[in-house]
Amino acid sequence: MSKRVAVIGECMLELKGEAFGAMTLGYGGDTFNTAVYLKRCGAAAGIEVSYATALGDDGLSTGLLDRWHDQGIDTRLVQRLPGRMPGLYMIELDGAGERSFHYWRDTAAAKAYFDAPVSPLEAQAADFDALYLSGITLAILPPAGRERLYALMAAMRERGAQVIFDNNFRPRLWPDRSAARAAFDRAFSLATIALVTADDHQALTGLDTLEAALAHARSLPSPELLIKRGASPTLVRSAQAPERWTEAATEAVARVVDTTAAGDAFAGGYLARRLAGADATSAAIFGNRVAARVIQHPGAIIPIETMDDLR
Ligand code: ADP
Repeated sequence: MSKRVAVIGECMLELKGEAFGAMTLGYGGDTFNTAVYLKRCGAAAGIEVSYATALGDDGLSTGLLDRWHDQGIDTRLVQRLPGRMPGLYMIELDGAGERSFHYWRDTAAAKAYFDAPVSPLEAQAADFDALYLSGITLAILPPAGRERLYALMAAMRERGAQVIFDNNFRPRLWPDRSAARAAFDRAFSLATIALVTADDHQALTGLDTLEAALAHARSLPSPELLIKRGASPTLVRSAQAPERWTEAATEAVARVVDTTAAGDAFAGGYLARRLAGADATSAAIFGNRVAARVIQHPGAIIPIETMDDLR
C-alpha cells in the first residue's frame, strides 16, 4: 500500500556566485532536500511526498511551486500568503572557490504557516502516514506555531503515524541554546523516529567531548533512534529492541566533493526504505549509500541521473 508523507519546513530561494558579479537563482532547504531524496528513492514503492510550507503570492513563489512539481513533490499543503515572500540565502563564492553563507529569512512566509486558525497540514493530517520535520523547522516557527506543531506530532503519533525528527541545529536561529534545547527535548519525546547527527547534538548540549554527546544521544527517548557520525558507522536502535544497538555501515568515499545535504539525503533514503517495510538497520545502510552518492557531487540536490541505481 502506498504511503503518504508530509514534510514541513522552509525552502528558500538560493543566490549563488561571486559578490557583485552575476549570480544564479536556485532554491533549497534541509527539509526540502529530504523531501526530494525521499521522493526519488521511494517512488518505486509508491511513497508520495507533500511539502508543507508557506510562500508568498509573488512570481518567485509561483516559480518555486513549479519547480517543486517538476521534482514530483505534491503541494496541497502549501499556503500562499498575500504580501509575504520566501526566505533567501546567498552562497558567496570567493576566487578560490571558498563559500560563505548569508541569510535573509526573518520575514519569510514559512514562519507564518500556523498563523491561520487551521493550517492545511492540520486540516489534512489524517490523510498522512508520516510527518517529517527538523530542528530548523522548529527554529523558524514562532513559539505559538511551534506549540501547534507539537500538538500535531502528538495527535499523529497517537493514531499510529510515524513522526520523524531530524536534529539539524543552527545556533543562529535561536535566541539562546537553552531555548533550542527545550524545543528539541519536546520534539525528541514526541518523535517515533529520531535522526541525530552527533556533531549537532554536541553543539546543542554543549557537552565537552563527542563521546559525552554520543552517550547522551543514546539516552534520547525516541523509540527508533539513529545516530549519524559522518564516515563512521551509523548507530541504530529500533523500537522492538530498546537495549540493543547495531551499526549500519557507511560507504567509503575516496573524494568528498560537497557534504551539503548529506544528512538530508540519508533521511530521504532511510525513510524510503523504512516506510516501505525494511528493518531499521538495512534502511540505514541504504540511507548511507544515498548520502555517499550526494557528497560526491556539488550542491544539495544532485542530478537525478546520477542516482538511477538508487531509485
Ligand atoms: P549531517 O549532514 O547531518 O551533518 P553527517 O556528517 O553525520 O550528517 O553525515 C550524514 C551521512 O553522510 C552519514 O551517515 C554518511 O552516510 C554520509 N557521510 C558523511 N561524510 C561521509 C564521508 N566522509 N564518507 C562517507 N560517508 C559520509
